[in-house]
Amino acid sequence: MRKEIQLRLSPEEAFDERRFEAAVCQSAGLDPAKDSIGIRPLKRSIDARGRKVKVNVRAEIFINETPPSRITATTDYRDVSKGDAVIIVGAGPAGLFAALRAIELGGRPVVLERGKDVRARRRDLAAINKDHIVNPESNYCFGEGGAGTYSDGKLYTRSKKRGDVSRILEIMVAHGAREDILVDAHPHIGTNKLPLLVSKLRESILQAGGEILFDTKVTDFILENGEMTGVVTAEGERIHGTGVILATGHSARDIFHLLHHKGILVEAKPFALGVRVEHDQQLIDQIQYHCSNDRGAYLPASSYALVQQTTFGDKERGVFSFCMCPGGFIVPAATSPGELVVNGMSPSRRDSKYANSGIVVAVELEDIPSQYQQYGALAAMMFQADVEKAAWKSAGSTQVAPAQRLEDFVNGKISQSLLDTSYQPGLAAVNMATEVLPPFISARLRQAFKGFGRKMKGYLTNEAQIIGVESRTSSPVRIPRDRETFEHPEVSRFYPCGEGAGYAGGIVSAAMDGERCAEKIMEKYGKRK
Ligand code: FAD
Repeated sequence: MRKEIQLRLSPEEAFDERRFEAAVCQSAGLDPAKDSIGIRPLKRSIDARGRKVKVNVRAEIFINETPPSRITATTDYRDVSKGDAVIIVGAGPAGLFAALRAIELGGRPVVLERGKDVRARRRDLAAINKDHIVNPESNYCFGEGGAGTYSDGKLYTRSKKRGDVSRILEIMVAHGAREDILVDAHPHIGTNKLPLLVSKLRESILQAGGEILFDTKVTDFILENGEMTGVVTAEGERIHGTGVILATGHSARDIFHLLHHKGILVEAKPFALGVRVEHDQQLIDQIQYHCSNDRGAYLPASSYALVQQTTFGDKERGVFSFCMCPGGFIVPAATSPGELVVNGMSPSRRDSKYANSGIVVAVELEDIPSQYQQYGALAAMMFQADVEKAAWKSAGSTQVAPAQRLEDFVNGKISQSLLDTSYQPGLAAVNMATEVLPPFISARLRQAFKGFGRKMKGYLTNEAQIIGVESRTSSPVRIPRDRETFEHPEVSRFYPCGEGAGYAGGIVSAAMDGERCAEKIMEKYGKRK
């Protein structure tokens, strides 16, 4: 017999397996001495609104019955080695999940990735952190698994398509992710576990007869009579297929330039720009969990989500926290020499002593300074690039990042000293408002930090610091596509996909978009076998 039960537990009861089982049995009136009982959580969310933190858990109980597998996804894919080639540019979440879905539908994915495999990529990340060398083909954004590999691996999305979200999470579990991601309200994997998952996704693609070519940068498209029938690589190789899924992410500026210069329609897109703020995790725990010391042995490092409306001139814009990483690290996410970009990640245990989050201002197209209008569809991207260059120059033209203590920034004071940080390349004290950020960004950030200080008592403190710049929040360019067919409106067989094209904003939504693009291309051009 199977039963479901809803409980409100203490953190100890929710996260300690023995106490959890005891609490469930007591609540359901079950006696493990009499029956064989299997218990597992179905959904789990932390409620920190009251003085005492509670955990809401929905659990399922199996009495004298073996629990079935939680997932239907497997790693058993059909052989597509004789299928028609579907060209997929980019091995980020969008590209990899497009490849797996194409396989399910009988297509043979040929994935072209400018970067290296997950293992080889590590050396280039070490070079950025230690020697300030940015390899433009292999970095925190480029390489196997895309920007999602050395990330936090937060897997929540605002998508309302719950079935599709579960499908992606199940595929991840089938490829080695912990089953907890199916249970937690805010699932995450952690940067230490992501590379293995990514390499298992690769194995599935290769075993089915697909191809993944690393160190293979696409530099041109093959266009014949208004159709995209293939791509050209940096080595000059021409690769043909039934069509092209372009999943190159929001940092592939060369791809946006290429499309623009070839006269293929792209559009400027609003994005968000700001800084990363770093606090002690213990301070954030004290605010969020109302504890006077530390959070104890059971609760995970706490997170926050903040938003504040701000006014500058006659325009209202939102400022919001973005990609908050409890117990995490700030990382250098530039993709070219001569620019400075920060982002955040965390390990699965989220046990670093720092809490960091992007705090970013919504940038509408009308906010972009007029000197960028000459770039047309690339205006937002060129503006973004210039702010990154200013950040790089301001702190000494290395990967040392410009920083300022938080209250000093709000009060317009240069910081006399900076705090310890998780950002490995190091920090330099800079006046962020005059040397790095455009006035409309810094003015809005100041208003927002004051508002955040009112919402979270203790948040606005000089024991926190801002580090710049957080600029790769979403793509500053959209590659349009038909709402029904997903093909580019002017070029058939061309499928703009994922975050870079403007259709996703995170690992799960990019993976979902990859799946949808594969379905569309196979529906229209795939030969059913
Ligand atoms: P990408 O992941 O950007 O992949 C694009 C791929 O295309 C790259 O591998 C790139 O090398 C390749 N490529 C580019 N140009 C070419 C070319 N010309 N030829 C061949 N290949 C090319 N999201 C979350 O949901 N949760 C998180 O916790 C999270 N944390 C993050 C932390 C960091 C440090 C970073 C950088 C990002 C984080 N993100 C997070 C964002 C997330 O990684 C992206 O939203 C997601 O990876 C987008 O997927 P994508 O497949 O569309 O593009």
